Amino acid sequence: GLNRVGELFGAGKMFLPQVIRSARVMKRAVTVLDPHLQDLNQGAIQSAGKVLMATVKGDVHDIGKNIVSVVLGCNNYEIIDLGVMVPVEKIIETAKKEQVDIVGLSGLITPSLSEMVHVAQEMDRAGLAIPLLVGGATTSRVHTAVKIAPFYEPGVFHVQDASRAVSFIGTLLNEDSSAETRARIKTEYEEVRRKRAEAAEQKKLLPLAEAQANRLQLDWIDFKADPPRCTGVQVLDEIDLASLRDFIDWTPFLHTWRLPGRYPQILEDPEVGAEAKRLMNDASAMLDEIIDRQSLRAKAVLGIFPAASDGDDLVLFTDESRTEILRRVPFLRQQRRSQAGRPNLCLTDFVAPIDSGQPDWVGAFVVTAGLGSSVLADNHIAAGDDYQAIMVKALADRLAEACAEYLHQQARTVHWSYATGENLDNLALINEEYRGIRPAPGYPACPDHFAKQAIFELLDAVQNTGVSLTESCAMDPAASVAGWFFAHPEAKYFGLGKIGRDQSDNYASRAGLTKDAAAGWLAANLD
Ligand code: SAH
Repeated sequence: GLNRVGELFGAGKMFLPQVIRSARVMKRAVTVLDPHLQDLNQGAIQSAGKVLMATVKGDVHDIGKNIVSVVLGCNNYEIIDLGVMVPVEKIIETAKKEQVDIVGLSGLITPSLSEMVHVAQEMDRAGLAIPLLVGGATTSRVHTAVKIAPFYEPGVFHVQDASRAVSFIGTLLNEDSSAETRARIKTEYEEVRRKRAEAAEQKKLLPLAEAQANRLQLDWIDFKADPPRCTGVQVLDEIDLASLRDFIDWTPFLHTWRLPGRYPQILEDPEVGAEAKRLMNDASAMLDEIIDRQSLRAKAVLGIFPAASDGDDLVLFTDESRTEILRRVPFLRQQRRSQAGRPNLCLTDFVAPIDSGQPDWVGAFVVTAGLGSSVLADNHIAAGDDYQAIMVKALADRLAEACAEYLHQQARTVHWSYATGENLDNLALINEEYRGIRPAPGYPACPDHFAKQAIFELLDAVQNTGVSLTESCAMDPAASVAGWFFAHPEAKYFGLGKIGRDQSDNYASRAGLTKDAAAGWLAANLD
């Protein structure tokens, strides 16, 4: 029966939440039937194969990995899930000891991409011969082909989504189709590498100095920044979860569960509407319970600092006299060769230059709604309820983003109070139709996760929120957001795009890193 569930999902005839719920029903049935099955000596269901699953070292995100594990479980695969932050030694040791048929790696943040390369190299050194699968938000076919696959001869394969993983692993492990599949994908990846090399030849980047000369030049002469009402570090210790509910953006929640579309329109969709409603009801019930029992806690810390830009550095001062520098934070600038008139942007372009003589300010923040989420999710897993376990983490993520939206509103209207007259409904808030942005390290305008260290130190965030940073600068608990507040009316999000080794080396000296370390942090953007 469960086998069929996996197939129907792979064929697009079942939605992911239904699959995960069926897994729960089956687990419970097996628990009840198990002793009887053993009596009948039918305990051992034929396993389709052994799969080792792990979120790589330095990363704590596991919703995607857990979804794939449950879906594979529905297809009779035996899953060995090593959890999160798994060092390569443990992956290799377990793969050998358990004689697994396949290793699946997951990761969400860009430093995890480098860790996956490392795992591939070590698996090669250890002489393993089983396929290596990689998946997760920042992984891609191109990155897998170009950066990982060359290091592991037995084969590295990128899987886009849980629905594809089942049939793909099936083909890989099937004796009749395995060799052909491996060979076909190897050829495809060679083609990807060839095309990439060609494309790189064609679009050379601007040297950093030229990109800097082509910065965005705002009018600072007639500029008057709004001074914040409160400066210094402020802690919001116990944020009422009930008040965050209205700030939740449900569309990404539905995407976590692989239901395509926008909320609330999706509820009326003839195909997915019914399933979306059911999922929303379950989410709502769990949220009621979480709020009622206070089983998750949300905290935030923010600071608004006297600031100026010094080229691509953000300079923060200790106080309004602006004589002593509290911290210099390096940012990154676009280096693409663009049509005439398009500036090469850096977020510091939105802050008054240090020599303009104009006072300006920049904010920093960390929020979390993940305190308690691991315990809650583990309890559900212990009870054989993967559906609720995934639900907890998906909701904690939503509450964290909602908390960031709430904090940003508080900053605009209270702490900084440059937009006291702002009056936006929920939709306008979720669409971010207000003045100012909150760029987050790891996102396109400032993709270096390393910058979170500056934010954490400025705000004493470990102490003030209970969130910590892993060696890859993932936030633990995962349901956390860190970022900057920029208030300039022209401030907008953009994508950094590819940068050159010249900027990476320059960033190294500004960030106090070795050149190799900087290149590591910037690997995903480095040309
Ligand atoms: N309502 C959404 C909010 C998260 S996505 C949700 O609940 O999921 C939007 C956020 O991502 C922004 O507020 C900002 O923090 C970050 N972001 C988006 N684009 C960005 C970019 N280009 N550079 C930096 N941060 C970005």
